[in-house]
Formats: sequence, structure tokens, C-alpha cells
Amino acid sequence: MIVAGDQQLLKQINRMALVRQLCSAPGLSRAALAETVGLTKSTVSLLVRELLDEGWLTEADILATGALGRRATPLQLDGQRLALLGADMGIGMARIVATNLLGEVLAEQELPYLDAADTAGCIGLMAQGLAELATCAALAGRTVLGIGVGLHGVVDDATGVLHYAPHLGWRNVDVASQLRAQFAGTPLAELPLFIQNEANVAALAELEFSGQIDADPLIYLSIGYGVGAGIIVNGRLLTGLYGFAGEVGHTILQQGGPPCSCGRRGCADALIGLQALLDEVYGKQQPASPEQLEQLFTEAEAGDDGAARAVAAAGRNLGVLLNNLWVAFDPMCIVVGGAALRLGERFIGPGRGVLHDCASATGLAAPTIRTPHFGNNAIAIGGAAMARHYLMRPFTEPSPARRNANKLGALPPAVAAGVLALGLN
Ligand SMILES: [Zn+2]
Repeated sequence: MIVAGDQQLLKQINRMALVRQLCSAPGLSRAALAETVGLTKSTVSLLVRELLDEGWLTEADILATGALGRRATPLQLDGQRLALLGADMGIGMARIVATNLLGEVLAEQELPYLDAADTAGCIGLMAQGLAELATCAALAGRTVLGIGVGLHGVVDDATGVLHYAPHLGWRNVDVASQLRAQFAGTPLAELPLFIQNEANVAALAELEFSGQIDADPLIYLSIGYGVGAGIIVNGRLLTGLYGFAGEVGHTILQQGGPPCSCGRRGCADALIGLQALLDEVYGKQQPASPEQLEQLFTEAEAGDDGAARAVAAAGRNLGVLLNNLWVAFDPMCIVVGGAALRLGERFIGPGRGVLHDCASATGLAAPTIRTPHFGNNAIAIGGAAMARHYLMRPFTEPSPARRNANKLGALPPAVAAGVLALGLN
């Protein structure tokens, strides 16, 4: 936590306090802003002038009320002049988007990898796509503020290093440095770049762009081949000491249960993840093929015995995980997302049922369980949301243990070894 800063930083903190306030309460006047954030009216006027000039804010139309006297001008975020870039470095392809400050998509593109094992090639493809997106016609006249990238694995957000992405087979890839090198000589060269795990990024999309900025604590539970979560508490992403907070796929739901990739038994990954379901229904095959996953979705929907039984059992275990997350974080809302959503009510229904039973037994009201606001672009849009999130919080720093970390040597060896076993999401 910063306890002292230079004048520029303090000014930026004050400016962004105004922007954040207008995110949660659009339409406030300068006077109302001054009162809410505790700055003088003259300071607020000065900062608002700058923010209007730079494209962060715009003055909304004053509603005619018939009352006499000068009406205060309502302020709001400007969706017309600035842009954010977001990317989802997915399993078979990268998805990239450009959004305005409100998260509305201005342009998007899918970039299939030529060779998913070629990390430099995949990162180069995505970097080139982002540079082209920044100068495309849909962004004409806009200033790009920052870039956010979601990665499907264990990420150290302080260094931008992807420690392990099991479904890409990537280990210890310095994504941040490679992107920076690719951006050299393009309009993206000097822009802030933020890199995070995909569930964390998707959680930020829900926080920043769903119009529910006050839904806090918020948990985004991502269920794909594996299980992970992005956890937001007090408006901040909970990243933990080494960056793998939220790896809830390795919470143990069943002691002595089926073996998990991490070495434990009975983890959520091994009971709920799509890889575990595929293993159970069709026998163990690594890695699972997209065709087999489609077959599972089809058979589960049709109610075929083996698939439907396995999906219902996974759904009940989902309910146990939801209960545990509820008790641990007392969230306002848990968003359940990821590819497993295609299993539909046969999966989510039993999960809700178990959670409902837990709530009834305690007499407490369970948190809201809902699906994500954003579809296939959830993680790419989340990248843009992450850029806005950190730009609006200039005082946020990574964990002290990782702040001065050196790239690949960042993790103590024992932790690095453990991290490689984590996360199939
Ligand atoms: Zn595990």
C-alpha cells in the first residue's frame, strides 16, 4: 500500500476517485462529487475540466424540470473518445476486442493459432492483431488507454509470467516481455499492459462492465476442463501472496476421492471439471478432444444414462463448492461461467439444489447465483475491464512478496514446483 507519493500520483489518485465515483453513480454534478469524495469544489472543477478534455468524462444533458435557477450539470463517463484493448489467449485461438470506457465492444477479432505449441508465434499473432485493432476504422479518433490480457493458467500478475497453462502445454512463458518486444514501434509500445489469469479477468468484466459495480464481494467461478475462480473483495481482485488465490479447483470436496492432477485426492477439479467428466464417461484420455466434449454435451442434453448421471453428480459437487465459497467469502453474488455452462440445468440445477439445502438448514439466505453477462468474449472483454480497473486505481500494487520479483526466478523453488501442479482452468 502506498503511504506517500509525489504530487502527480496524488493528483492521479484524486482524478480517478472522481471517475470511480461516476462509474457507480453516473449523473453526479461537480458539487455532489466534491461532497462525496471529500475534495474542495475548486479542486473538483479543475480535475473535471482535465477529465473532460482528455475524454474520460462528458457532460450529460440537463433535464428540464421547470424549477427556477441554474441546474447543476450531470457528469458521466464518456463512451465516445477513449478505447481499451482486451485479449483472451485461449486454447486454440486468441480473441481480441476493443471497447469503449463503458465496456461496449467497438471491434473484435478471432485469431486461430497456426501452431499452439509455438509460444512466440501465438504471442506474436496476438500482438500483431492488437496493434492492427488499435488503428482500425472503428477506433478512428479514439485514444487507446491500456491493454489487458487473460491467460488460461497460473499467472504472476506482478511479472506477467505465465507459470503453467496445462491445455496449451506452456510453462514459464514471459508473456509480458514478449508482448512488449512485439509492440515496439507500434502505437501500443508505451501503453500500460496488464496480465492475469482468465477467471480473474472474467471477474473484473462482471465488476466493471455489468452495471453492478456494487456487487461486492463477487466471485466468478470458471468451470472448463478445470475449475478456478476470480474473487473480488472490497473492489479489488484477491490475488494472494504468490498470485494463485482463487485456485478453488483444488479445494477438497471429498476426502479420499478421485485423484487430482495436483497430487491431492477429491479436489473440485477431479469432481466437477470437464476433464474429470470426460474421464469418467469415456475413460481416461489425455488430452480430451473438442469432438469428445461435444459428444458429452449432446449426450448430457439427451439424458443418456452415463453422461446424465455423471453430470448430475458433478452438479451436486458444484453445490458443495458453492456452499464453501459462500461461507468463506460471504459474497453478494457468485457468477458461474466457463464451457461447462453448456451442460445447462442438468449441471447447474443440482448445484443450486445443494446450495438451497445448505441455506435452508442454516436459515440464511444464499447468495445470488447467476450466469455471466458476457458470452464468448467474456475473457477478452475482461481484459479491457482489467485495464480500466487498474487505470482507475493508481494506488493498487501487487503483493509485496512479488513486487520486486525477478521474472522467472520470482517464485521460491518449492512454490514453483507446486504451482506447476495447479490449475486446469
Ligand atoms: Zn487438485
